[in-house]
Amino acid sequence: MHYSILYRGPLSSCNYGCDYCPFAKRNETYEQLESDRVALARFINWCEAQSASGCELSVLFTPWGEALIRPWYQEALARFTQMPHVRRAAIQTNISCHLKWVDGCKLDRLALWCTYHPTETTRQRFLDRCYELDQRGVRYSVGIVGLKAHVEDAKWLRERLPESVYLWVNAFKRSENYYDAPTFDALTKIDPLFPINNVRHASRGNACRTGHEVFSVDGDGAMRRCHFIKEVIGNIYDEKWEATLSPRPCSAETCGCHIGYVHMNKLELYELFGDGVLERIPANQIWRQMSDCNHIAKAASPPLTNRRVTLPQVSEIG
Ligand code: SF4
Ligand code: SF4
Repeated sequence: MHYSILYRGPLSSCNYGCDYCPFAKRNETYEQLESDRVALARFINWCEAQSASGCELSVLFTPWGEALIRPWYQEALARFTQMPHVRRAAIQTNISCHLKWVDGCKLDRLALWCTYHPTETTRQRFLDRCYELDQRGVRYSVGIVGLKAHVEDAKWLRERLPESVYLWVNAFKRSENYYDAPTFDALTKIDPLFPINNVRHASRGNACRTGHEVFSVDGDGAMRRCHFIKEVIGNIYDEKWEATLSPRPCSAETCGCHIGYVHMNKLELYELFGDGVLERIPANQIWRQMSDCNHIAKAASPPLTNRRVTLPQVSEIG
């Protein structure tokens, strides 16, 4: 059995100050950081011990804030990538940290989900980090929050990032009808999957791999099916943790975040992302074949509806 785990420990602080984020410039005490470090160490040991039961794991760190500036997350990634039963170790990050720690990783198992925050660093500085990732042979995606004020930043990045790097755009869904048609088209041209992200997908009663093949874990080991449904379904530190996992329909009305809806069966995004589900890298470089992808935009528009989105088969766009 293979499980994908979304780990979010108690850490909740960040060195950046994005005004769209509750963790902006939030500091933590030494004791708070230490409790995060201890919780992560316990989680790593648990993951390591699972090799004995024959199960394989993939781990995505989805911290509240920026974790990769902390050495214990850098060491965790290095350690995970050295475990034979770990297929992928990935993290969401602003890549403001140094990248020397990558030297300790097995690169074929490491992946970074890198987000550019235009108010917090320069375009060039962020791009230089991406180039360094390339030089080091690290697999990564790049993303940006799709505010109207960020459209030019996204275009600038798309023009300069290696063509092989996927640039995703997270739709700003806090206000309805946020996008006018030209902005929507411009962002879709950059990220052909933007229209999919711009929808809160109707999910109640739908099959979703979370709670079965995918689950989230917090610093105490509490298991939840995903980050969006708060019900605790078990604890990894209990002997019978695996028995709590089974197929179950979604109990939420909608699902609007990639780390959630990517696991919904009806969207067929596993076929699209292949082994890049966690780090958000499509299996085929669909962003280089925009004319083939226009029908994705059409399928998902108009934005901010909860209606079903029908995706083409991978073979149609790959
Ligand atoms: S970098 Fe991420 S976690 Fe930090 S303030 Fe910006 S959005 Fe929030
Ligand atoms: S569809 Fe979204 S909210 Fe529902 S169970 Fe899956 S990840 Fe969670």
